[in-house]
Amino acid sequence: MLPLGRVLRAVGSLQQFRCLCSKAYGDALPSSCDVLIIGGGGMGASSAFWLTSKARQRGKKLNVLVVERDHGYSKASTVLSVGGVRQQFSLAENIQMGLYGHDFIMNSQKHLGDVDLCFQPHGYLIMATSQGAEILTRNSKLQNELGARNKLLGPEALRKQFPWLCTEQN
Ligand SMILES: Cc1cc2nc3c(=O)[nH]c(=O)nc-3n(C[C@H](O)[C@H](O)[C@H](O)COP(=O)(O)OP(=O)(O)OC[C@H]3O[C@@H](n4cnc5c(N)ncnc54)[C@H](O)[C@@H]3O)c2cc1C
Repeated sequence: MLPLGRVLRAVGSLQQFRCLCSKAYGDALPSSCDVLIIGGGGMGASSAFWLTSKARQRGKKLNVLVVERDHGYSKASTVLSVGGVRQQFSLAENIQMGLYGHDFIMNSQKHLGDVDLCFQPHGYLIMATSQGAEILTRNSKLQNELGARNKLLGPEALRKQFPWLCTEQN
């Protein structure tokens, strides 16, 4: 068990906090927890979710506390990037992580219960010059093989689909 008062004072998070654990503590600071996570963005919330889920699956109780200083998440990268879950990478591991994240979000109710994440997928448009075309083609092939569906468009098809786009090369 972590003695919370001392730990939180050490990281300077005591001013404001929000608990994203099974029990809402309001403004009262619990005196201890098994795992303390500083920051309730995507990484902190996900760590808390998986730690408690896995412990529950094993019939164990794990008291995980997430401390967040910004109640509105106004500066969290997680919130600033909610428009997309990128899967267009060149490394298989990155593509698989993107696919996993996308699947989790699309099936969030299965994992999180009756929570609407309001996710509106819009997709990505990754551009390359003629020098980068070979790499883009190779990446696209790998992505499609792993299940990250995408298609390659040449300049003409791009102009047709995105008339605002300048496809000229200097
Ligand atoms: C435009 C954009 C697009 C992106 N696209 C992708 C993508 O497609 N795929 C991908 O994998 N990644 C993407 N990213 C990156 C991804 O969003 C971040 O890597 C990820 O959200 C980081 O999560 P995090 O929880 O580490 O940080 P954050 O979301 O920033 O959360 C950190 C939290 O910790 C809190 N905190 C910090 N210090 C303290 C403290 N001392 N006490 C209490 N709380 C504290 C902060 O208030 C904050 O809420 C993108 C980022 C941006 C900006």
